[in-house]
Amino acid sequence: MTRPIDSIIECRGALILGAGVAGLFAALKLSPFPATILAGTRPGISGSSAWAQGGIAAAVGDGDSWQSHAADTMAAGAGLCDRGIANLVAFEAAARIEDLIAYGAPFDRTADGSLALGREAAHSAKRIVHVKGDRAGAEISRVLAERALATPSITLLEGFHAVELALEDGRVCGLFARTGIGAQARLVLFRSPAVVFATGGLGALYAVTTNPLESRGEGLGMAARAGAIVADPEFVQFHPTAIDIGRDPAPLATEALRGEGAILVDEAGRRFMAGVHPDAELAPRDVVARALHSEIAAGHKTFLDCTRAIGGAFAQRFPTVYGACKSAGIDPALQPIPVAPAAHYHMGGISSDPRGRSSLGGLWAVGECAASGLHGANRLASNSLLEAIVFAARAAEDVAATVIARPGHGTPPAPERFAAPAPPHVLRDAMTRLVGLERDEAGLVEALAVIAQVERAGGSEPALLNMTAAAKLVTAAALVRRESRGGHYRSDHPAAAAEARRSFMTLAQAETITQARTDAQSRRAARG
Ligand SMILES: Cc1cc2nc3c(=O)[nH]c(=O)nc-3n(C[C@H](O)[C@H](O)[C@H](O)COP(=O)(O)OP(=O)(O)OC[C@H]3O[C@@H](n4cnc5c(N)ncnc54)[C@H](O)[C@@H]3O)c2cc1C
Repeated sequence: MTRPIDSIIECRGALILGAGVAGLFAALKLSPFPATILAGTRPGISGSSAWAQGGIAAAVGDGDSWQSHAADTMAAGAGLCDRGIANLVAFEAAARIEDLIAYGAPFDRTADGSLALGREAAHSAKRIVHVKGDRAGAEISRVLAERALATPSITLLEGFHAVELALEDGRVCGLFARTGIGAQARLVLFRSPAVVFATGGLGALYAVTTNPLESRGEGLGMAARAGAIVADPEFVQFHPTAIDIGRDPAPLATEALRGEGAILVDEAGRRFMAGVHPDAELAPRDVVARALHSEIAAGHKTFLDCTRAIGGAFAQRFPTVYGACKSAGIDPALQPIPVAPAAHYHMGGISSDPRGRSSLGGLWAVGECAASGLHGANRLASNSLLEAIVFAARAAEDVAATVIARPGHGTPPAPERFAAPAPPHVLRDAMTRLVGLERDEAGLVEALAVIAQVERAGGSEPALLNMTAAAKLVTAAALVRRESRGGHYRSDHPAAAAEARRSFMTLAQAETITQARTDAQSRRAARG
């Protein structure tokens, strides 16, 4: 017997799940086409968006070009970027930055009034637009939320936790969301002919992460459970310099610090990156993160030393990082900052096309929850906020041009349970230990067994199934990819394969892999 729905809300126009930069920008671009934005947390401070420090990449400086930006994106992506998408995103970047300026984004300027540009790893030019040093995400999120609140075509609803997509005739027709807590919890069906997922990443499925704890792959899991194709899920980026002060999530020391000349050292002050890569601290993120991982595995402590490169200007130039350091009694102007790699960004996601369409009718995906083909095996720094605004604008254009209201007929089956559990520690621990910076076959099979066990223990709670679906897709695709490339490193297959191929996988395929591999492991264990 299915559970009765407490209320049904018919949305005028599009329903956007997520109030980070991708969701807010999509709603603004849709206007005057109506949009309802649902989010778990308050728009303006919601998701990873509000935490972004570096800024947004765009080839807007003298002597720079979108072709050079696209080429850097392709190089970082280690053979897996979609060239057409990289060109399109780099080309449209300048127009989307203009949009943000028009919405009120207070980008830093030089003395002559032009945009001040920073440099980050693996970019061949200074091309990162930023706000108040390291406050790009907070300021852009604030400005977009204020603008959305003042836009009559946009309805903002906070405090709703989506648990399942609603399907009618094989097409997405809305979603089920929980609101309220304990005995006051209610299940609401939101109906809409166009559902846009802007649900962010999955870093918080890992025990060590820079992501807010709401970034736990639920949008990806919901879409996959409804049958959507997922692309490149094995590619998770680990940021090399999370501040290692025992906090969950770990605060970030932005890459811009290394762009300004900060160096990585061990406890004896030895600079170790110079011997690892010609670009030293500005090598691609996966190279720097693995170098730190090796140092830590060899028993060293690792630090980011900003004392010479930034010194006394630290508090004023990087106020967010300064505040995080001071909260742990560290003065980064005078002392090296303890750092370690942490799960940071998901290159994979719901497979999306140039209009942001997923493989499911009625569902679009934009921002970090989507895999547009831009990032390949490794994201170039500050390309993610850019991808979010480029595809939010494209999806908005597509929705406004093509969607016609369809009256709902009947009521899609509702989930029987709708609690909002946190990801169990055993799952987060397994993801960090076994599906992290270094992976191998035995560890990945063990991780699949842990995920299956968490799933069995959780019963049929949809929110938990969304998280385990996301974890299963990452792990199964990592198991199938017997090579090392970009953010995916297999210690048992350390070389890259001759041919670079993207991964496309459904949840049913990930489940078949899980079943086969965990059964084989149980048989081996039984034989002794
Ligand atoms: C510390 C940090 C620093 C970063 N710095 C940069 C940077 O300098 N430049 C850059 O380009 N990128 C940076 N990134 C990455 C970038 O911030 C993200 O990729 C981007 O903000 C993602 O935006 P989004 O709108 O797709 O998702 P988010 O901003 O993560 O928003 C997701 C939204 O979905 C909602 N949501 C999710 N699941 C549910 C659910 N089940 N029910 C209801 N609501 C739900 C959340 O509440 C939230 O509103 C950084 C990331 C972190 C963590």
